[in-house]
Amino acid sequence: MSFSQDIKKELMGEIPKPRHCIIAELAALTFTLGKWGEKGFYIESENEELKRKFFTLLNKTITISEYDDVLSKEAVEELFEVLKVKDNTFEMNGLLIQQPCCKKAFIRGIFLTSGSVSDPWKGYHFETALSNESLAKSVREVICSFGIDAKMVERKQQTVVYVKESNQIEDLLALMGANVAYLKFENVRIEKEMRNSINRQVNCETANITKTVSAAVRQIEDIRLIEETRGLSSLPKNLQEIAVLRKEHPDMALKDLGNLMDPPVGKSGVNHRLRRIGEIAKSIRN
Ligand SMILES: [Zn+2]
Repeated sequence: MSFSQDIKKELMGEIPKPRHCIIAELAALTFTLGKWGEKGFYIESENEELKRKFFTLLNKTITISEYDDVLSKEAVEELFEVLKVKDNTFEMNGLLIQQPCCKKAFIRGIFLTSGSVSDPWKGYHFETALSNESLAKSVREVICSFGIDAKMVERKQQTVVYVKESNQIEDLLALMGANVAYLKFENVRIEKEMRNSINRQVNCETANITKTVSAAVRQIEDIRLIEETRGLSSLPKNLQEIAVLRKEHPDMALKDLGNLMDPPVGKSGVNHRLRRIGEIAKSIRN
Protein backbone atom coordinates (compact mmCIF):
# COMPACT_ATOMS: atom_id res chain seq x y z
CA MET A 1 0.00 0.00 0.00
CA SER A 2 1.31 3.45 -0.88
CA PHE A 3 1.90 6.10 1.76
CA SER A 4 -1.12 8.05 0.44
CA GLN A 5 -3.34 5.00 0.71
CA ASP A 6 -2.18 4.47 4.29
CA ILE A 7 -3.12 8.03 5.18
CA LYS A 8 -6.50 7.77 3.47
CA LYS A 9 -7.29 4.53 5.21
CA GLU A 10 -6.58 6.25 8.50
CA LEU A 11 -8.64 9.33 7.62
CA MET A 12 -11.58 7.38 6.24
CA GLY A 13 -12.64 6.40 9.75
CA GLU A 14 -12.38 9.95 11.10
CA ILE A 15 -15.96 11.14 11.49
CA PRO A 16 -16.18 14.53 13.18
CA LYS A 17 -18.72 14.97 15.94
CA PRO A 18 -19.77 18.64 15.77
CA ARG A 19 -22.31 19.40 13.07
CA HIS A 20 -20.28 22.33 11.73
CA CYS A 21 -17.30 20.06 11.04
CA ILE A 22 -19.49 17.36 9.48
CA ILE A 23 -20.88 19.95 7.08
CA ALA A 24 -17.40 21.22 6.18
CA GLU A 25 -16.16 17.72 5.32
CA LEU A 26 -19.41 16.87 3.55
CA ALA A 27 -18.97 19.98 1.40
CA ALA A 28 -15.49 18.81 0.40
CA LEU A 29 -16.80 15.38 -0.62
CA THR A 30 -19.89 16.74 -2.39
CA PHE A 31 -17.97 19.36 -4.36
CA THR A 32 -15.31 16.92 -5.55
CA LEU A 33 -17.39 13.77 -6.15
CA GLY A 34 -20.84 15.14 -6.94
CA LYS A 35 -21.99 14.89 -10.57
CA TRP A 36 -25.16 15.64 -12.49
CA GLY A 37 -26.35 12.69 -14.57
CA GLU A 38 -29.48 11.83 -16.48
CA LYS A 39 -31.15 10.48 -13.38
CA GLY A 40 -30.07 13.34 -11.18
CA PHE A 41 -27.31 14.19 -8.74
CA TYR A 42 -25.02 11.35 -7.72
CA ILE A 43 -21.66 10.61 -6.13
CA GLU A 44 -19.06 9.37 -8.55
CA SER A 45 -16.22 7.31 -7.12
CA GLU A 46 -14.77 3.87 -7.58
CA ASN A 47 -13.91 3.88 -3.93
CA GLU A 48 -16.77 2.26 -2.02
CA GLU A 49 -15.35 3.36 1.32
CA LEU A 50 -15.38 6.95 0.18
CA LYS A 51 -19.00 6.68 -0.93
CA ARG A 52 -19.85 5.15 2.42
CA LYS A 53 -18.19 8.03 4.20
CA PHE A 54 -20.19 10.48 2.10
CA PHE A 55 -23.45 8.82 3.06
CA THR A 56 -22.46 8.61 6.72
CA LEU A 57 -21.82 12.36 6.76
CA LEU A 58 -24.93 13.04 4.68
CA ASN A 59 -27.09 10.98 7.01
CA LYS A 60 -25.84 12.98 9.99
CA THR A 61 -26.69 16.23 8.20
CA ILE A 62 -30.04 15.69 6.53
CA THR A 63 -32.76 13.03 6.64
CA ILE A 64 -32.39 10.57 3.82
CA SER A 65 -34.88 7.81 3.25
CA GLU A 66 -32.84 5.53 1.03
CA TYR A 67 -29.23 4.92 0.16
CA ASP A 68 -29.01 5.19 -3.56
CA ASP A 69 -26.07 6.50 -5.54
CA VAL A 70 -28.48 8.98 -7.08
CA LEU A 71 -29.92 11.36 -4.50
CA SER A 72 -33.60 12.21 -4.46
CA LYS A 73 -34.60 15.68 -5.60
CA GLU A 74 -35.55 16.62 -2.02
CA ALA A 75 -32.27 15.35 -0.63
CA VAL A 76 -30.29 17.36 -3.17
CA GLU A 77 -32.26 20.50 -2.36
CA GLU A 78 -31.73 20.06 1.36
CA LEU A 79 -28.04 19.23 0.92
CA PHE A 80 -27.39 22.21 -1.33
CA GLU A 81 -29.14 24.47 1.12
CA VAL A 82 -26.96 23.26 3.99
CA LEU A 83 -23.84 23.64 1.83
CA LYS A 84 -24.98 27.09 0.68
CA VAL A 85 -24.72 26.13 -2.99
CA LYS A 86 -25.89 28.87 -5.35
CA ASP A 87 -26.92 28.20 -8.96
CA ASN A 88 -25.55 24.65 -8.78
CA THR A 89 -21.98 25.93 -8.79
CA PHE A 90 -19.64 24.37 -6.29
CA GLU A 91 -17.89 27.14 -4.45
CA MET A 92 -16.90 26.89 -0.84
CA ASN A 93 -18.83 29.40 1.21
CA GLY A 94 -16.55 30.95 3.81
CA LEU A 95 -19.28 30.67 6.44
CA LEU A 96 -18.88 26.88 6.40
CA ILE A 97 -15.20 27.01 7.28
CA GLN A 98 -14.90 29.80 9.79
CA GLN A 99 -13.52 27.78 12.68
CA PRO A 100 -10.17 25.94 12.66
CA CYS A 101 -11.95 22.62 13.40
CA CYS A 102 -14.08 23.05 10.27
CA LYS A 103 -11.09 24.10 8.19
CA LYS A 104 -9.32 20.88 9.22
CA ALA A 105 -12.38 18.78 8.35
CA PHE A 106 -12.56 20.49 4.95
CA ILE A 107 -8.89 19.76 4.13
CA ARG A 108 -9.38 16.16 5.23
CA GLY A 109 -12.36 15.76 2.88
CA ILE A 110 -10.49 17.29 -0.04
CA PHE A 111 -7.43 15.15 0.63
CA LEU A 112 -9.54 11.97 0.74
CA THR A 113 -10.95 12.56 -2.73
CA SER A 114 -8.15 14.44 -4.48
CA GLY A 115 -4.95 14.38 -2.45
CA SER A 116 -1.67 12.51 -2.25
CA VAL A 117 1.54 12.55 -0.21
CA SER A 118 4.80 11.07 -1.50
CA ASP A 119 6.56 8.40 0.49
CA PRO A 120 8.88 10.48 2.72
CA TRP A 121 11.81 8.17 1.86
CA LYS A 122 11.46 9.27 -1.76
CA GLY A 123 10.80 12.98 -1.25
CA TYR A 124 8.60 15.55 0.39
CA HIS A 125 5.47 16.38 -1.55
CA PHE A 126 1.85 16.94 -0.58
CA GLU A 127 -0.75 17.88 -3.13
CA THR A 128 -4.41 18.08 -3.99
CA ALA A 129 -5.43 18.15 -7.66
CA LEU A 130 -8.84 19.62 -8.45
CA SER A 131 -10.60 20.42 -11.69
CA ASN A 132 -12.58 23.11 -9.87
CA GLU A 133 -10.28 26.14 -9.70
CA SER A 134 -12.41 28.10 -7.25
CA LEU A 135 -12.41 25.14 -4.88
CA ALA A 136 -8.63 24.82 -5.26
CA LYS A 137 -8.24 28.46 -4.26
CA SER A 138 -10.29 27.82 -1.13
CA VAL A 139 -8.10 24.80 -0.33
CA ARG A 140 -4.98 26.88 -0.66
CA GLU A 141 -6.42 29.68 1.47
CA VAL A 142 -7.44 27.28 4.21
CA ILE A 143 -4.04 25.54 4.23
CA CYS A 144 -2.26 28.91 4.32
CA SER A 145 -4.43 30.02 7.24
CA PHE A 146 -2.53 27.45 9.34
CA GLY A 147 0.78 29.12 8.48
CA ILE A 148 1.59 26.50 5.85
CA ASP A 149 3.13 27.74 2.62
CA ALA A 150 0.87 26.11 0.00
CA LYS A 151 1.58 26.91 -3.64
CA MET A 152 -0.69 26.57 -6.67
CA VAL A 153 0.01 25.47 -10.24
CA GLU A 154 -2.06 24.47 -13.28
CA ARG A 155 -1.51 20.92 -14.52
CA LYS A 156 -3.51 19.09 -17.20
CA GLN A 157 -6.66 21.14 -16.70
CA GLN A 158 -6.38 20.73 -12.99
CA THR A 159 -5.40 23.18 -10.30
CA VAL A 160 -2.80 21.63 -8.05
CA VAL A 161 -2.22 22.96 -4.55
CA TYR A 162 1.04 21.64 -3.15
CA VAL A 163 3.37 21.81 -0.17
CA LYS A 164 7.05 20.76 -0.34
CA GLU A 165 8.40 21.54 3.10
CA SER A 166 8.69 18.44 5.31
CA ASN A 167 7.70 20.17 8.57
CA GLN A 168 4.66 21.67 6.93
CA ILE A 169 3.55 18.34 5.44
CA GLU A 170 3.82 16.96 8.95
CA ASP A 171 1.61 19.78 10.21
CA LEU A 172 -0.93 18.97 7.51
CA LEU A 173 -1.00 15.29 8.43
CA ALA A 174 -1.53 16.20 12.07
CA LEU A 175 -4.27 18.71 11.44
CA MET A 176 -6.18 16.34 9.14
CA GLY A 177 -6.08 13.82 11.99
CA ALA A 178 -3.68 11.30 10.41
CA ASN A 179 -1.76 10.71 13.63
CA VAL A 180 -0.24 7.36 12.72
CA ALA A 181 0.95 8.67 9.35
CA TYR A 182 2.28 11.77 11.10
CA LEU A 183 4.50 9.71 13.40
CA LYS A 184 5.68 7.52 10.54
CA PHE A 185 6.54 10.56 8.44
CA GLU A 186 8.37 12.23 11.33
CA ASN A 187 10.45 9.11 12.01
CA VAL A 188 11.56 8.92 8.39
CA ARG A 189 12.37 12.62 8.30
CA ILE A 190 14.48 12.44 11.48
CA GLU A 191 16.31 9.35 10.25
CA LYS A 192 17.03 11.03 6.92
CA GLU A 193 18.29 14.16 8.67
CA MET A 194 20.58 12.09 10.88
CA ARG A 195 22.02 10.24 7.90
CA ASN A 196 22.60 13.53 6.10
CA SER A 197 24.33 15.08 9.06
CA ILE A 198 26.60 12.03 9.46
CA ASN A 199 27.46 12.25 5.74
CA ARG A 200 28.18 15.94 6.09
CA GLN A 201 30.45 15.28 9.08
CA VAL A 202 32.35 12.55 7.21
CA ASN A 203 32.79 14.84 4.20
CA CYS A 204 33.94 17.63 6.45
CA GLU A 205 36.56 15.44 8.17
CA THR A 206 37.81 14.21 4.82
CA ALA A 207 38.14 17.79 3.64
CA ASN A 208 40.16 18.72 6.74
CA ILE A 209 42.50 15.76 6.29
CA THR A 210 43.02 16.68 2.62
CA LYS A 211 43.80 20.25 3.64
CA THR A 212 46.40 19.11 6.24
CA VAL A 213 48.01 16.68 3.81
CA SER A 214 48.26 19.19 0.97
CA ALA A 215 49.81 21.76 3.35
CA ALA A 216 52.43 19.21 4.46
CA VAL A 217 53.16 18.22 0.84
CA ARG A 218 53.78 21.87 -0.03
CA GLN A 219 56.06 22.33 3.00
CA ILE A 220 58.17 19.34 2.04
CA GLU A 221 58.45 20.59 -1.54
CA ASP A 222 59.66 23.94 -0.18
CA ILE A 223 62.21 22.30 2.09
CA ARG A 224 63.55 20.10 -0.76
CA LEU A 225 63.86 23.14 -3.00
CA ILE A 226 65.91 25.02 -0.41
CA GLU A 227 67.99 21.90 0.22
CA GLU A 228 68.77 21.47 -3.48
CA THR A 229 69.55 25.13 -4.15
CA ARG A 230 70.99 26.98 -1.17
CA GLY A 231 71.21 24.03 1.20
CA LEU A 232 69.44 23.78 4.56
CA SER A 233 72.52 25.18 6.29
CA SER A 234 71.73 28.53 4.69
CA LEU A 235 68.68 28.72 6.97
CA PRO A 236 68.75 30.22 10.48
CA LYS A 237 69.13 27.55 13.18
CA ASN A 238 65.46 27.54 14.26
CA LEU A 239 64.24 27.08 10.65
CA GLN A 240 66.83 24.37 9.99
CA GLU A 241 65.52 22.40 12.95
CA ILE A 242 61.87 22.48 11.82
CA ALA A 243 62.85 21.72 8.20
CA VAL A 244 64.66 18.55 9.26
CA LEU A 245 61.81 17.47 11.55
CA ARG A 246 59.20 18.08 8.84
CA LYS A 247 61.16 15.97 6.35
CA GLU A 248 61.38 13.15 8.87
CA HIS A 249 57.70 13.36 9.82
CA PRO A 250 55.73 14.43 6.75
CA ASP A 251 52.31 13.55 8.19
CA MET A 252 52.77 14.82 11.73
CA ALA A 253 50.45 17.50 13.15
CA LEU A 254 52.06 20.89 13.81
CA LYS A 255 51.50 20.60 17.54
CA ASP A 256 53.37 17.27 17.69
CA LEU A 257 56.18 18.63 15.53
CA GLY A 258 56.55 21.49 18.02
CA ASN A 259 56.90 19.02 20.89
CA LEU A 260 59.86 17.37 19.13
CA MET A 261 61.76 20.65 19.05
CA ASP A 262 64.31 21.62 21.65
CA PRO A 263 63.04 23.55 23.51
CA PRO A 264 59.40 22.69 22.52
CA VAL A 265 57.53 25.23 20.42
CA GLY A 266 53.75 25.78 20.27
CA LYS A 267 51.61 25.12 17.22
CA SER A 268 51.55 28.75 16.12
CA GLY A 269 55.33 28.97 16.48
CA VAL A 270 55.76 25.93 14.23
CA ASN A 271 53.30 27.39 11.78
CA HIS A 272 55.19 30.69 11.73
CA ARG A 273 58.50 28.99 10.99
CA LEU A 274 57.04 26.84 8.23
CA ARG A 275 55.55 29.96 6.68
CA ARG A 276 58.96 31.62 6.68
CA ILE A 277 60.43 28.55 4.96
CA GLY A 278 57.59 28.90 2.44
CA GLU A 279 58.53 32.54 1.80
CA ILE A 280 62.21 31.68 1.28
CA ALA A 281 61.20 28.91 -1.18
CA LYS A 282 58.99 31.38 -2.97
CA SER A 283 61.82 33.86 -3.36
CA ILE A 284 64.04 31.09 -4.77
CA ARG A 285 61.34 30.16 -7.33
CA ASN A 286 61.08 33.78 -8.40
ZN1 LIG B 1 -16.05 22.70 13.22
